[in-house]
Amino acid sequence: MIDTTHLTVDQLADAWQHIHDTSPADEADPLVLECAGRLASDPGGEQAHVWVAGLVAMSGYLAWRPGKAAEQAALNALRDAATALDGQSCSHDDHPYEAEMDSLEDEIWTGDNGLLTGELVSPAGDTGAGRVLCPGNVAGWARLATDMIAPFTVRSIPAGAPKYHHSSIRMLSGVVNDYPYDDPQELLADEAVCLPDRPTRGLLAGFLVTMNATCWYAASERITDRSVLDSMVKGIQAAVPLLGDEPCVHGPREHPDTNDPDYANRIGYLLRSPGGRAELAEDYGWDEEEQADDEEERVEAWVCSAFLHELADKTLEVLTDALQSFEPAGGDEPGGGGEPE
Ligand SMILES: [Zn+2]
Ligand SMILES: [Zn+2]
Ligand SMILES: [Zn+2]
Repeated sequence: MIDTTHLTVDQLADAWQHIHDTSPADEADPLVLECAGRLASDPGGEQAHVWVAGLVAMSGYLAWRPGKAAEQAALNALRDAATALDGQSCSHDDHPYEAEMDSLEDEIWTGDNGLLTGELVSPAGDTGAGRVLCPGNVAGWARLATDMIAPFTVRSIPAGAPKYHHSSIRMLSGVVNDYPYDDPQELLADEAVCLPDRPTRGLLAGFLVTMNATCWYAASERITDRSVLDSMVKGIQAAVPLLGDEPCVHGPREHPDTNDPDYANRIGYLLRSPGGRAELAEDYGWDEEEQADDEEERVEAWVCSAFLHELADKTLEVLTDALQSFEPAGGDEPGGGGEPE
């Protein structure tokens, strides 16, 4: 354990930059706990932006396998900060964090959001003067980090998936509607290998939903290269052990219906970003006051491990059945991803 209490803010900020998804808990947890503790002690205060910056910088670690106490402390502090800061009014139409939502590659923020210094150097030359440290901007970052760590647990995130996710939805929609614009074998093969080693919960859920939405097409005679199916199987088999082991809290009808591949395909990509999840939550009435009644599907069930485990099993069954109609791959291990003929 490192003792963090004597470190200056500059030293802490430097330490935060070195915390990643691969960081060991005994290195990362004390920094998270220190940072979350400072934020929780004054969540709407003058210095809140510094501690929100710290938790955002460490969100790659927090979104993967943090210590339970550190994760809970971070989430509580970020939620308290968002609530406290939202209560402070401002006159801005928008805030710099909204412009950055389009570039949340694999969800984890790695650039400079200006929260530490109050200045933001963006390619567009917009320094965001005055708006970077606005409580509305700091609260926005606190909500984004919360949603990356624990999807669908925070509201008021601006709806809108990144542009490149919308373009993936369009291309794959062509495939699942049997009207592909591009080479479907290439598209599906690319999708099968796109999951990072340590995905966020949203990315992992999105990947498994996309695999399910596209598996009927891969299993039809339209795909003649067995390596496409092999890599989908391999991708799913690598993804399933990454699912968390928290128990399912849902009733019999609360898990999503995945019978419409076009709908599931859209959701497969909406699940992969805070803005996409906000877009999806609107479909479930999150922008209205009343919650839907208890009998209905719940949007947060899209990231339920039990639901995803079952969905992955169904997808694997479709793909492995289809693989039986192919000639055995010439001497290769299944999943070896041989060259197309
Ligand atoms: Zn503002
Ligand atoms: Zn569930
Ligand atoms: Zn299983």
